[in-house]
Amino acid sequence: MNTTDVVIIGAGAAGLMCAIEAGKRGLRVTVLEKADKPGRKILISGGGRCNFTNLHTTPDNYLSDNPHFCKSALARYTPWHFIGLMSAHGLSYTEKTLGQLFCDQKAPAIVAMLLDECARAGVRIRCGEQVREIDWQDGRYTVKTADAHYRAANLVVATGGPSIPKMGATDFSQSVAKRFGLHTIPFRPALVPLVFSDQDKARWFAGLSGIALPVTASCNGVSFHENMLVTHRGLSGPAILQISSFWRKGDPLSIDLLPAHNAAELLNQAREQHPERHLHNWLSEYLPSRLAQRLCEVISLQGPLKQLSPRQLTNLAGLLNGWTLTPSGTEGMRTAEVSAGGVDCNELSSKTLAARKQPGLYFIGEAVDVTGHLGGFNFQWAWASGWCAGQALGL
Ligand SMILES: Cc1cc2nc3c(=O)[nH]c(=O)nc-3n(C[C@H](O)[C@H](O)[C@H](O)COP(=O)(O)OP(=O)(O)OC[C@H]3O[C@@H](n4cnc5c(N)ncnc54)[C@H](O)[C@@H]3O)c2cc1C
Repeated sequence: MNTTDVVIIGAGAAGLMCAIEAGKRGLRVTVLEKADKPGRKILISGGGRCNFTNLHTTPDNYLSDNPHFCKSALARYTPWHFIGLMSAHGLSYTEKTLGQLFCDQKAPAIVAMLLDECARAGVRIRCGEQVREIDWQDGRYTVKTADAHYRAANLVVATGGPSIPKMGATDFSQSVAKRFGLHTIPFRPALVPLVFSDQDKARWFAGLSGIALPVTASCNGVSFHENMLVTHRGLSGPAILQISSFWRKGDPLSIDLLPAHNAAELLNQAREQHPERHLHNWLSEYLPSRLAQRLCEVISLQGPLKQLSPRQLTNLAGLLNGWTLTPSGTEGMRTAEVSAGGVDCNELSSKTLAARKQPGLYFIGEAVDVTGHLGGFNFQWAWASGWCAGQALGL
């Protein structure tokens, strides 16, 4: 039996940050990680460069059944705190777009920094230790792996969500929450490509795979203006990944292919000024040529603009400013960047991330029903929630 003050399950972004903070406060901390090394999702994040935070982080960048819950942690641990930590380790960053910060020294440098901080704070990290069972008796948790038992008054569940199961991701946190009577919101794939029926694929996307263009994608009253990518299976790219988090089965999606223009006005003007110009040729000024060709086929017009009937013009303008499609589903957890859902925020303190009705039990990071938009917001939540729990443990 290994006795310690805090057991943290999961050496990901949230678990490591929590361990550092609790260790710095003099607590004996043991982190149990089932993988053979810590921080595996950090290592693959941001194309290997880790989009570690977003300068424009606000609570509005997060989805949750309780949208107020993330406010406290995000206010107490901001992107500048993490940037300060990186600077102290000699790490620099580059802002790509929209406030997204990437590590110049690449993702392994972020993991190395966290591990260095853990070592300085006296944190013990045990890899290859999958937690299988948790007991609670006499105010102490007993955490069981195949090889050892760990006993502590404080238990932090930082096991993330089930996205990318081939990396070993599971919904372990939900079984722990249920074991202690805490309500959970079922996990669902988020920041995930959308797929379409064979019929829609044949009609809209066949031969267009690889095309990318800036669009505004809207669903359920939410819109994102970013790039969209056509794939063999349907649609992806930042605009689609963002909107996928708000999409539910059966919901239609609206895609504005000309977000900077009123398509009807533009078409009318073009018809008056260049009546002999072919529609496909004109459309290719605004859209990738293969997509322009496909839209001409769909509205059955290949000829000059002067042949465009009022009905065809209305249909085409509608398509250009509000292409409406209903996805048949998502690519699922297999490719989802995050899992939405998690432990119901109403079960936790927003200040400490501690369970309200179970002493010494904490949930942090993706395990909690707080899901960020694309662009570094998920790591910011992991750092902030881990930091807050780290300040509160053992008090
Ligand atoms: C491909 C990809 C790219 C991404 N890129 C970005 C990005 O650039 N920016 C961004 O903000 N977000 C990104 N994300 C999302 C981000 O990685 C997650 O939101 C973040 O890692 C969540 O941190 P966490 O600590 O809560 O969980 P995780 O990082 O998932 O850590 C959980 C840990 O718990 C361990 N574990 C699970 N069950 C057990 C168990 N029973 N016993 C012991 N250990 C266990 C797991 O092995 C894992 O190491 C990306 C995600 C993916 C999949």
